[in-house]
Amino acid sequence: MKIGILALQGAFIEHAKMLQALNVDSFEIRQKKDLDQPMDGIILPGGESTTMYKLLVDLEMFDIIKEKIINGLPVFGTCAGLLLLAKTVHNHSNPYIQTMDIVARKNAYGRQLGSFRTVSSFAGKANVPFVFIRAPYVESIGKDVEVLAVVDDKIVAVRQGNQLATAFHPELTKDLSIHEYFIDICKKAIS
Ligand code: GLN
Repeated sequence: MKIGILALQGAFIEHAKMLQALNVDSFEIRQKKDLDQPMDGIILPGGESTTMYKLLVDLEMFDIIKEKIINGLPVFGTCAGLLLLAKTVHNHSNPYIQTMDIVARKNAYGRQLGSFRTVSSFAGKANVPFVFIRAPYVESIGKDVEVLAVVDDKIVAVRQGNQLATAFHPELTKDLSIHEYFIDICKKAIS
């Protein structure tokens, strides 16, 4: 089992540490040739979605990653990563990867109030810590999308097949359960 972590910008080191704690190998994806390595899943970290998108296009990685996801490679997008996966970003015109049937709202909590911590349930597991940093939320979902977490009536974690996305940052907590959930998706995709 080996997971590629997009490492162009943002909070990628923290994801590697979470995977290490779960005894899962990972490698950083910094350039096109890194995408030649076999991988069982890919993580799109938090950061700034437009910056990450532009870097992906400039480095000729965008189409390759999109194709891998369309072909079923498990993907976990956190925060900016959720925006990259969304079919529509409500208050933003530029389409990104668009493989998840969700409508997301960028900087949805407002710039000043954008960062907060809470504890909620994720996929039926109670008391999971969530860290939100200028986070988006999901405004609406397509029929194949499962809601995994809701905070203050807002959808903040979703799954569609092998695609997992959270509006918050599980990698900035000590709780491994959401990364474990993703690794489970990756394991099932292999078997
Ligand atoms: N607001 C950022 C964006 O629009 C996301 C913030 C984050 O990833 N922490 O991409």
